[in-house]
Amino acid sequence: MAKPFPLEQQHPETLAAQAGGYLDPATGAPIPPIQPATTFARGADHGPPPLTDYIRTHSPSWTSTEELLARLEGGAEALLFSSGMAAVHAAVMGLRPGDHIVLQEALYYGVRGWIRRFCEEWGLGLTLVDATDLAELEAAMRPGETKLVWIETPSNPLWRVVDISAVAGLAHAAGARLAVDNTVATPVLTRPLALGADLVMHSATKYLNGHGDVLAGALVTARHDEHWTRIREHRDQTGAVLGPFEAWLLLRGMRTLPLRVRRQCETAGLLAQRLNGHPGLEAVLYPGLSDHPGHAIADRQMTGGFGGMLSLLVKGGAEEAIEVVKACRLVLPATSLGGVESLIEHRATVEGPDSPVPKNLLRLSIGLEHSEDLAADLEQALQTAVLDRHSGP
Ligand SMILES: *Cc1c(COP(=O)(O)O)cnc(C)c1O
Repeated sequence: MAKPFPLEQQHPETLAAQAGGYLDPATGAPIPPIQPATTFARGADHGPPPLTDYIRTHSPSWTSTEELLARLEGGAEALLFSSGMAAVHAAVMGLRPGDHIVLQEALYYGVRGWIRRFCEEWGLGLTLVDATDLAELEAAMRPGETKLVWIETPSNPLWRVVDISAVAGLAHAAGARLAVDNTVATPVLTRPLALGADLVMHSATKYLNGHGDVLAGALVTARHDEHWTRIREHRDQTGAVLGPFEAWLLLRGMRTLPLRVRRQCETAGLLAQRLNGHPGLEAVLYPGLSDHPGHAIADRQMTGGFGGMLSLLVKGGAEEAIEVVKACRLVLPATSLGGVESLIEHRATVEGPDSPVPKNLLRLSIGLEHSEDLAADLEQALQTAVLDRHSGP
């Protein structure tokens, strides 16, 4: 067989398409098998099995998926979890009582809600900040006490852009680690570890899997250190692990990740341009628009696109916004993101009564449909739900 092309030199498209060069040693199959076994036999000498003796600490079905994600993120190691929130949980459990966390306030509400509640109930210090304001972030740091800074960029659902390398500098100066929720940007558009972050988290339920049929999470570390050891032990011992079949499906989804994300960015960009200035809208929030407050940083930090997510501020309030969702015929009225079908949701309804999200905000996850079909659907929905309604007889 020819000498393999070095993995370090491969572009994301190549790594993903070939699942990191996987070839089954027994059969030559380019697809890894699913190994459902929960237990693994010892050798004749009673030595341990080659990989693990029990599935909670490791499944052979995780290996290719974890290795591919670690390579795509440029990390030392990746761990799969049973959900994105289980990955967040493990990262926080890697801290110790008395540690202080600095958390970006405007991010995915599930992460903010759980970290806030956990810190209150279990005695960890927490400061919520606007992470786009570096002076505010620096003032929140307690050198020696702050152990974790947590951000998301572009962040849900306003798509604010956080300068990862600047925040990494501030975190490290105070002796803290920086964790980045990279669910929305994906390693195709942003590689936080290369910009100085220490930990990357994914809801693999979203773009990584990409087909709306797997619940999964992941953490990727820049290096093997004490925090990572504690995270690993936490997963091993508490068992928020992924089933073999889900890990296999996730790898299958990831093989087309770069292709999907690039098309989703392209379509989201076209829609943002087209809807910007629409008479039924107050604003279009998308980091690719030159008037977006985070555009300059996004332009520098994101490679090859500004993401497949955008939000619309509808003229009017919650009622008008919900009417737009109801008037869509093609875009599906559902939460979540990163799948092949486009989704639209009234974000404040999803987040509940305490949501700080503007009441007229609609969050869109752009899928793989033709951009003209999506534009036509959104334009007819805005026409009937906002413009016709207010024009009167
Ligand atoms: C969905 C999501 C999560 C939570 O992940 P689950 O897989 O649903 O547990 C965390 N962060 C972001 C940005 C998400 O979109």
